[in-house]
Amino acid sequence: DPDTGLEPLEFAVTRNLAAKSTVDRDAILASPGFGQSFTDHMVDICWSVRGGWHRPRVSPYGPISLDPAAAVLHYGQEIFEGIKAYRHADGSVHTFRPDQNGRRLQRSARRLALPELPVPYFLQSLRELIAVDGAWVPSGEDQSLYLRPFMFAKEAFLGVRPAHKVAYYLIASPAGAYFKGGVKPVSIWLSEDYSRAGKGGTGAAKTGGNYAASLLPQSEAYENECDQVVFLDQDRNVEELGGMNVVFVYKDGTIVTPQSDSILEGITRDSLLQLARDRGHNVVGRNVSLTEWREGVASGDIVEVFACGTAAVVTPIGVLKGRDFIDEQPTGTLALELREELTNIQYGRAEDKHGWLYRL
Ligand code: PMP
Repeated sequence: DPDTGLEPLEFAVTRNLAAKSTVDRDAILASPGFGQSFTDHMVDICWSVRGGWHRPRVSPYGPISLDPAAAVLHYGQEIFEGIKAYRHADGSVHTFRPDQNGRRLQRSARRLALPELPVPYFLQSLRELIAVDGAWVPSGEDQSLYLRPFMFAKEAFLGVRPAHKVAYYLIASPAGAYFKGGVKPVSIWLSEDYSRAGKGGTGAAKTGGNYAASLLPQSEAYENECDQVVFLDQDRNVEELGGMNVVFVYKDGTIVTPQSDSILEGITRDSLLQLARDRGHNVVGRNVSLTEWREGVASGDIVEVFACGTAAVVTPIGVLKGRDFIDEQPTGTLALELREELTNIQYGRAEDKHGWLYRL
């Protein structure tokens, strides 16, 4: 690697002799849903204090064996990523800004006291998996292969300290169109009793515990007939949804998104905001209080609110519901225009002017 001077890893490849037949695979790819079926192979790399990163493998997908005392099962020392591979019309397979996911995995690792996987190894793991499971990248409209890199403490030790043995894995799962029959605005429940993150906590890291903590507020959202939860910080500023960032569009064209060190910095958001800047929008990262949101919508200052993330790309927010109010949200066109522009780049239908695609 020209930047790091690292030699590529030598992966030991064991083919899955019980790989799905073409017929079975095509049946899955015809309606994959999300996160339910997995490709024929997986990648793993071991890490230890003494040996560093070692034993890179491509193996048949299947259960892994873990000591019951493995630290991750007790103290949650775990991080992950989410990234999609897209099939272009010429058959080639691309991911979108995977270097950004690799760097975010490193930032998450630092916060969770896990070892930082060098970005070239991260990228190589994606290439190795696609080399054996490339046929699992679907070619239907808005379909993709969802890649799930993750890392956890596997040392069998019940003391509370960073584990001396860690595993990095990569699995992949074909994903269908998130919205069947067109993008629909989502309804958002305002979580007042529970927060997702706190000052100095792990909110900016993609770690399992953040998602575990979001499950109870998410069921509160369902009980209140809402699709998703929005979390506030201790000063009642808007943070983000359980798995998406939030963006506000103002009447004068300014775009505002919460900036805080307890939010997960979304790669989708960063890309959409760049496309907005390209169109001449002024883009600002700053605190947005709940009051500013509600008053901005009431006065007409805020003309559009949307959420964004890898899974759903962009979803307009149609309604914000709290314990004692229901605020209908204004509907604009920018969210869906930016969505179209971004997905055109991802699927190779538009020029990749920022060099975001990475061919696998
Ligand atoms: N916030 C949270 C909490 C998330 O889990 C995600 C999904 N990774 C996002 C925001 C959006 O990030 P990205 O655009 O990189 O998928």
